[in-house]
Order: sequence, then structure tokens, then C-alpha cells
Amino acid sequence: MKTKLKVKTICTHVGEVEDKRFKGAISPIYMSTSYQFDEVDVKRYPRYFNTPNQEYLSIKIAALEHAEAGIIFASGMAAISTTFLAFLKAGDHIVLQNTLYGGTTNFIREEFPKYGIEFTFTKGLNVSDFEDAIQPNTKLIHIETPSNPLMTITDMKAVADLAKWKGIVTTIDNTFASPVNQNPIDFGIDIVIHSATKYLGGHSDILAGAVACSQEHMDKIWNVAKNLGGSLSDFMVWMLERSIKTLVVRVKEQNRNAKKMARYLDMHEDIKRVYYPGLKSHPDYELAKQQMRGFGGMLSFELKEDLDASKFLNSLELIKPSMSLAGVESTMLLPSETSHALLSQEERDAVGISNSLIRFSVGIESPKDIKDDIEQAIKQSKKEAN
Ligand code: PLP
Repeated sequence: MKTKLKVKTICTHVGEVEDKRFKGAISPIYMSTSYQFDEVDVKRYPRYFNTPNQEYLSIKIAALEHAEAGIIFASGMAAISTTFLAFLKAGDHIVLQNTLYGGTTNFIREEFPKYGIEFTFTKGLNVSDFEDAIQPNTKLIHIETPSNPLMTITDMKAVADLAKWKGIVTTIDNTFASPVNQNPIDFGIDIVIHSATKYLGGHSDILAGAVACSQEHMDKIWNVAKNLGGSLSDFMVWMLERSIKTLVVRVKEQNRNAKKMARYLDMHEDIKRVYYPGLKSHPDYELAKQQMRGFGGMLSFELKEDLDASKFLNSLELIKPSMSLAGVESTMLLPSETSHALLSQEERDAVGISNSLIRFSVGIESPKDIKDDIEQAIKQSKKEAN
């Protein structure tokens, strides 16, 4: 019955731990790492992902992603690595979209050869690129849409249909969209992964991950998760539950502000190019409209050659030049020096990440104040004319 509730109500109420003793309005925190083992239905232990706070927040995550089951991890990378290892063993193969979060790419490249797991990055984002990369031993296809940092859009339904036809499980990193803007399970994707450090947390003070899928897939993930041990402490689980209560209002405001910023930057004479799926000029605007309810709070842009990107970032007074994304405060960074620094220059060039590309995580401030800050930083970052 609860999953039929609207998303705002799910955020506010689903997955609350009822305070039966004192009737408080919010979930109490159960910090115990030791629970009674006999005459109980569930043997609870934090590394089994089933303390009261862990169990109930998982219900909220599942409801938000239209899934049967959810699970909370200690980071987005714990969620990604555990999920991959739950479905892949030595001799198996995974197909990965070519434009992925740098940490995911790095994890695959550094760890999979040690386990004898084979992998192929697609050449592009068309469904034919995924089909071309499939091998007889392919067990997983992993996508990310919109992707980091160029906001490319992958056709979720086309990839899900292809995978179903071939009997392959699909995973998606849904971090950039958040469940407010996109529910991949509705398009046939099997497993949805989040870095909850981003929009689900939303205040730049929680490191966490989340996965939502069918109970059958979750049983597999849980079996590996309890061995790898990437569970989240109950205090942080409680913090995350509190944060998700305002997810919809935050994300909708970020959607609105990002659209305004994208349009403003797109018209700006000092900006070479803007990457935002909500701009009609985005090559996949129509596809984004089909599969997203909102276009998200993330965009990227390239400065023209006569502006110094580092000087621009250092001249910002309101927008923080800082790592990570999706907080209520606006932040900017250079992917070439942060999220994609582990890739070589050639690899970055191959996926279109130039050294003047700036990733912009738009917050909930007044759009006028954000624009004023960008204007003054642009003025200060003009290179001296020779
Ligand atoms: N996925 C995406 C799209 C990300 O941006 C990040 C981190 O920036 C991750 C996964 C990894 O998440 P975490 O840092 O919570 O481990």
C-alpha cells in the first residue's frame, strides 16, 4: 500500500522507525551493535544491514525507486563494488558505458584483473554500442545517465530490452538524476545504485550508498555485502533518513535553478559550450524528456580560451570550488583535476573532458546571487591580452 504513495509522502513518512515507547514524531536511533539472538524473527547485527534503522531506511529507498527491496551502504563505491561482485565471478564479463564516474572506472581497471573478471567499455552510447560489446560470458551491463561530467544521456529502455533479450542483468548509477527525476526500474533496468553522499544526503555531510532492486537480486547482493562489510553506522543511517525527508523540495529547486543557469551560461559570450540535458540544444534532449521528470541540478560548461579556468574557480566568492556535488550549496570543480584525474590526458580527451571544462552542481541559493558571482569571477579570470 505504501509504495502507491506519492514521492513527497514517501520521503516524509515511509521507512520511519515507530517510537512505540515515547510516541515521538520522528524515528529514534538504535545504536546497539548487539541484539538478542534467540526467540527472535531476525538476528540483527549492523554488518548484516538489518538493525532497525538500516532495515527501515531500506524500505524508504525501495519505495523511492519503485523496487521490492533496498539496502544502505557506507559509500557509493561500497554499493557499486558490492553489487558488481555479487553478480560477477572469475571468467565472467561486464559491459560498461564509456562515460562513467571516474571512481567506478578506476575500480574496474584496478581490481577486476585481480579477480579474473573481464570487462569492455562501450565505444559510444547507442544501443548498438552496447550490443557490440556483449560477449558470450557477459553477465552485467552497467550504465550511468545523466553521466558525470558531460551529462550524456543513455536510453534506459533500449539497453534494458537488449539485456533482457540476451539474459543479462542491468545496473545503473542513478546518482545524478536522483529518484525524484528518474526511476530506472520503470524502464526495465534491474538494479539501481546511488551514491547517497549526493542528492539523497543533500547537505554535504553524509558519506553513504544505496541499492534498490527485486528481492531475488537483493538476496544475492546481501550475501556478498555481509562478507565485504560495507554497512553504514546507525547514526549516519538516521541522518540520511532525516535528509531524505526534504529530497523532493531540494531537488525540484535545484532542477529550477540549474535550468536557469544553463540558459544564462548558454547565452554568455565568454562561455564556449554548456552541457545540460534540459537545453533544447543538448543532442539527447528528446530522450531526456522521455525518461526524466526533471533535468537535474548538474551541468557542465567550457570557458572560452581567453579565460583562465583555475583563476575563475579561485575568484568565486559564493559558489564553492569544492569536490563532490548535490549539496544545497552551489559548487564547481575541474573534472580534469578531481573526479577524472586518475585517467590519462588521452583517456580524458577520448571522452571529451577538456582542461577548461567546469562541472557545476547548482544549489538552492537565489539564482541572481549565483549569476552575480559567476559574472564577477569571469571578469577576474580574463587572461591578459598580449
Ligand atoms: N557515482 C557517482 C555518479 C559519483 O559522482 C560518485 C562520487 O562522486 C560515486 C558514484 C561514488 O560515491 P561515494 O563517493 O559515495 O563512494
